[in-house]
Order: sequence, then structure tokens, then C-alpha cells
Amino acid sequence: MDLIHIIIIILRIWSDLMEMVRKTIGKNKEYECEYEWPNDCFIQGGDTGLVLSKKGSYKTAFVEVFLNNPKTFIRGEGATIKDAENKAWEQFNKIINCKCHEFERRNYDNGAGFCKNCGLFKSDAFEPTTKCKFCLNTTYYMRLIDNEMCCKECLKDFDKVIEYIPDFMISILAMEGLNPDDIFSSPIEDSIKELLLNRTFDSVAQITEILEKNKNRYVAELFKRNIKKGEYPNQPDKLISFMKQYYQW
Ligand SMILES: [Zn+2]
Ligand SMILES: [Zn+2]
Repeated sequence: MDLIHIIIIILRIWSDLMEMVRKTIGKNKEYECEYEWPNDCFIQGGDTGLVLSKKGSYKTAFVEVFLNNPKTFIRGEGATIKDAENKAWEQFNKIINCKCHEFERRNYDNGAGFCKNCGLFKSDAFEPTTKCKFCLNTTYYMRLIDNEMCCKECLKDFDKVIEYIPDFMISILAMEGLNPDDIFSSPIEDSIKELLLNRTFDSVAQITEILEKNKNRYVAELFKRNIKKGEYPNQPDKLISFMKQYYQW
């Protein structure tokens, strides 16, 4: 077999795999989507999603579709995944057949809008109505405590804004190139050390949950992000030995 054939076979396997990602739901891909969703969308779902609501929380099957064109997000709910997919598909068809999108803000002040005719959600349909606490420019860049905003520019003057920033948001600043070590010199060692060394965990998610409960949302957020980026291992024992090494416990 020459190289070109091998490449074609690899491409076929790859496209089959992509198909599985796109059209199947569940750990063991137990649900296969019934509809011909566009190739460039991403679908996820489950049969026991929990919806937290002031009116009363409930469990539901759900299907979520992240579309690229138009760039939006659809969520269908129902008694079964099949029902949920039906709902999502109905909504998708409404959107792609809408003659003219007319956006309204509803309760959002961040610039997001919903089409009156088809329900399409667009994250940047409008300018945000909120202003930066410091320079008064329109922005929705970062929410401070007390429902006030800060724009990207003003955020650079960290001394000015730090007292208005909830601690879990600090991690997002860290992603913006600010060094978290400069913000909190060593905020976590003792509490995390204790947590990690004295308990057995089933998953790293449990660790982050405990950190969050202990109000260490900053570290929890960093954990999640770094695990996602592959910088911390996503296995409890490896994570613990990583932390031991990292902090030289
Ligand atoms: Zn529309
Ligand atoms: Zn500003």
C-alpha cells in the first residue's frame, strides 16, 4: 500500500470519528442523533440534566447544539433525549427559515439579543447597556462586585480595580497575563495541602468542588482551567503528587 492510500484511510477513519462526535450523545455514544445536523456544529446532551430555577428545579433530558452558522446555541428539553432532539431540531428549523431577524434585548444588558420571530440568540446583537465604573465607556468586559463593570483598558490599572473584583474573577485576570502569584502571594498552600493530603478523591472535579465550598474559588477556577489546558493532570493521585512537587511539600 502506498502512502496516499494510507492517508486516505486515515482521513476516512478521522471523518468517521468526527461523525461520532457530532451525532452521538452519551459516554458510550448510546444515543445517535436522528436529524441531519450541519457538519460544523457540536452536539452534547444527556438524559438527566438538572435545571436550577427559582420557580422550582427539575430534571430533564436535554440536547444542546452549538451552531456555527448562524453562530448560536440551541437547547432542547424533553422527557427523553429523543424528545429533546426533536425540540432542538424544531428550533433550528425555525431559525434557518426565519425571513428576517428582529432582535430584542429581553432581560439582558450585555448586548445579547433574541429574534422576535424565531428566537435566535445572538450574543452581540446590541451594544451593552452597561458602562465602565472608571471611564464610563460602554462595556461588558468584566463584572465587578455590586453589579458594576470594568472595561479592558481600565482593568490594566490593577491597583485601582482590585478592591472591586470578586476573588473568582482574579483567575480570569490571570488568563489575561497577570500573574496570580503577584495578586495573592501564597493564598492556598495550607488549606489545599490539608485537603489534598488528608482525603481520598474519586475525581479532580471533587477537589475543585471542595475548594469552591471552602471559598477558594480562585484556585478552583485555576485548577479547572489548567486541567483543561492539560497543564495539571486530571487524575487525583497524579494531581496530588504534582502539587507536592510544585509546592515542595
Ligand atoms: Zn429570526
Ligand atoms: Zn474603563
